[in-house]
Amino acid sequence: MAGTGEQEGDKPQFSAFLVDLDSPGCRVEDGATPMSGEHIESDIILDDCFVPAAHLLGEEGKGMRIALGRVTTNRLLHCPTVLGATRRALALTLERTRTRQVAGGQPLLMLQAIQHKVADMATEFYAARSMTYAALAALDEGRETHTEAFMCKLFVAESAFRILDEAVQIHGKEGLTQGNEIEYLFRKIRMFRILTGTSEIQRNGIAKLLAFNH
Ligand SMILES: Cc1cc2nc3c(=O)[nH]c(=O)nc-3n(C[C@H](O)[C@H](O)[C@H](O)COP(=O)(O)OP(=O)(O)OC[C@H]3O[C@@H](n4cnc5c(N)ncnc54)[C@H](O)[C@@H]3O)c2cc1C
Repeated sequence: MAGTGEQEGDKPQFSAFLVDLDSPGCRVEDGATPMSGEHIESDIILDDCFVPAAHLLGEEGKGMRIALGRVTTNRLLHCPTVLGATRRALALTLERTRTRQVAGGQPLLMLQAIQHKVADMATEFYAARSMTYAALAALDEGRETHTEAFMCKLFVAESAFRILDEAVQIHGKEGLTQGNEIEYLFRKIRMFRILTGTSEIQRNGIAKLLAFNH
């Protein structure tokens, strides 16, 4: 994105460009390492980098619309990632409750307190997955899904965090131990209440759209 002038009322005007990463003056630097330990962000530095006019993406001055247009889709596309990691955590937790023997020699899953936790986890997962499928189907049909995208990102991230917290609880010490998959999934899932827009910003968006449409 680059400033390419001013609109009426002195508002800056942006245009979108495609830049080859191996262009002179363009380099990629490692970003910070988040708590999941994955290197998933980088900084792209453009320093005296010549970009020919032929590399303009879309219309001149309409770059911001292109950038923001992607945000709704991007928000929805993060949901399946979170759901996949949560489904894995559910499977590992069920396995753990079947195989872990507690006092009295019975498996964890025989305890009603554990059964209720697992039932709540699976129910929240089902709700999160259902609303994501519904919103993505609407997007596929070309329908407007701004409110649904905010709602899905909010609910999927928040419910996944609750599910992973219980998964750690049910795994006991194992769930706190570095190198255990549940410990990694907990750290990975925790990030989604912040990245791609925090839960607070999703709520702001939902409230604004509700107020705007009624
Ligand atoms: C590894 C990683 C990957 C990322 N990937 C993406 C991505 O794919 N897409 C993307 O869009 N972003 C991504 N981000 C950026 C992420 O969305 C931002 O970090 C996030 O929006 C928070 O911004 P901030 O860190 O500047 O926090 P701040 O803006 O400083 O916010 C701090 C706190 O204040 C709250 N807050 C701020 N403003 C308001 C407000 N108006 N109302 C209520 N509460 C408010 C926030 O919710 C937050 O809890 C990524 C970040 C990381 C670390």
